[in-house]
Amino acid sequence: MILAVIASIFVFILGLVVGSFLNVVIYRLPRDLSVVKPRSCCPGCQTPIEWNQNIPVISYLILRGKCRKCSSPISWQYPVVELLTGFLFWASWRGLGFDAFAIISQIRIWTFISICISIAFIDLEHRIIPDELSLGGWLFGALTCYWDFRNGMGNLIFSSLGGFGFFFLFAIVYEKITGRNGLGGGDIKFMGTIGIFLGFGGIWSSLILSSVIGVIVGVIYAWFQKKRKENILRTAIPYGPFLVMGALAELFFEFSKWLNL
Ligand SMILES: [Zn+2]
Repeated sequence: MILAVIASIFVFILGLVVGSFLNVVIYRLPRDLSVVKPRSCCPGCQTPIEWNQNIPVISYLILRGKCRKCSSPISWQYPVVELLTGFLFWASWRGLGFDAFAIISQIRIWTFISICISIAFIDLEHRIIPDELSLGGWLFGALTCYWDFRNGMGNLIFSSLGGFGFFFLFAIVYEKITGRNGLGGGDIKFMGTIGIFLGFGGIWSSLILSSVIGVIVGVIYAWFQKKRKENILRTAIPYGPFLVMGALAELFFEFSKWLNL
């Protein structure tokens, strides 16, 4: 019991630390900056951030969301990404556990969760899904297929190519009919990434959930923008965050079955 609590805390802290790194990825990757060097600095005054101001969540609270030197605000996104990663790492560990086989399954799913969080926040701000995340993620997913917690390798590779192909065709047909670009290339590649990690179940959940959530959010957004009805389809909202929500929902549906909830 006490060991399980200590392990839970350890996994949660690991998630916070990884989340702190994801903040760096989310900021730097779309700006074509290196994610390993130099040290992070305040975007307001360029002062390098000391290690003791870089403790996940706690530093944000101590600094009260402001840079110590120039008082420019630190985005709420930093602690949110850290807490979200911590929570999802913990939930994944509760779902899969570790033993000799599961440790690689666990790292595989943690990596997928990290990719999903990065994609959601990058797409939200920049309307792009970097290839480093979608294609790089696909490669890692393909290399670790063997250790998947429920799908066979063949199923995953087939699902991944099927998902990519289906969306590729869908995008071409959509463009032919409407004369507009509906799905971006980044979304299509990311569908392949979801397939290599979660199989067909993941692709369908992402597709259905993202469409439902996307339509609801789109209508609300359009209403707030006071746009006329025929403009709803033209209202550009990034699709990536909805695909991520669908994929993570599928993942946790699987975990709840695993835990007999
Ligand atoms: Zn500053």
